Amino acid sequence: MATFDGKVVVLSGGGRGIGLAMAKSFAAKGAKLAILTRTESSCQAAADAINAEYAEAAKPYAVDVSDSAAVDAVAKEILSDFGGINVLINNAGITRDGLLMRMKEADWDAVLDTNLKGAFNMTKAFQRPLMKSADPRIINVASVIGLMGNAGQANYAASKAGLIGFTKSVARELAGKGVTCNAIAPGFIQTDMTDVLDDKVKEGIQERIPLKSFGQVEDVAALATFLASEEARYITGQVIATDGGMTM
Ligand code: NAP
Repeated sequence: MATFDGKVVVLSGGGRGIGLAMAKSFAAKGAKLAILTRTESSCQAAADAINAEYAEAAKPYAVDVSDSAAVDAVAKEILSDFGGINVLINNAGITRDGLLMRMKEADWDAVLDTNLKGAFNMTKAFQRPLMKSADPRIINVASVIGLMGNAGQANYAASKAGLIGFTKSVARELAGKGVTCNAIAPGFIQTDMTDVLDDKVKEGIQERIPLKSFGQVEDVAALATFLASEEARYITGQVIATDGGMTM
């Protein structure tokens, strides 16, 4: 079983859902975590929950990942607090769904700024220290929607397809430095993000999933800990779906 003793994981969007499950999974395997969320209360609550089980494993940092100056400042703080970074997980993401005909420019910008520019800001801020670390990994949380598209999610699909292109380019740029960069493409996972869908929509989606159910946050966390492990050292530039078979 992978162990992350002595390793530092920097995780955006770790306050809830998939991010919080990943944080718990890494903490259980011995990692130290910097948990970044948009709101102070969210990262503080996540860090408290983790530290209650794994003493002093997590520190909270409130930052908007779409703000490059704020990301640079928080990166300095994290590197000074932890002394380095081994794993960067770009997981922060939002949706602002609507048919293209009605989609406002602000909804396009907000989704692209958080989901794609956020990963750019974070990766830029941490790439140098990652190059100097042991078993360095970047994991980007994309989505099956970035592979398949979806009516009502042009902004979200574009952001996640962009994140996949970004992943492959970063994988090529940093391979020579031993840094791997991969993307996870979750299907429909039970979280706050999918709880907002109405029951009829959920039933329709479930019908189209070969394994006939939504995934759990732990399914995504298991893939993240594998991609961050030493066992995954020869995997880079890949998009791995955990989606009940939606994209086979
Ligand atoms: P979630 O429950 O809505 O949580 C999103 C997290 O991202 C929160 O902690 C939030 O901070 C943080 N966040 C949002 N905007 C941010 C910003 N500008 N700066 C910093 N942090 C920000 O989402 P989730 O369902 O766990 O999804 C996590 C990732 O998986 C996202 O990238 C999403 O697109 C992707 N994904 C999810 C599904 C799914 O079915 N749920 C499927 C495919 C892909 P606060 O806590 O402060 O609000």
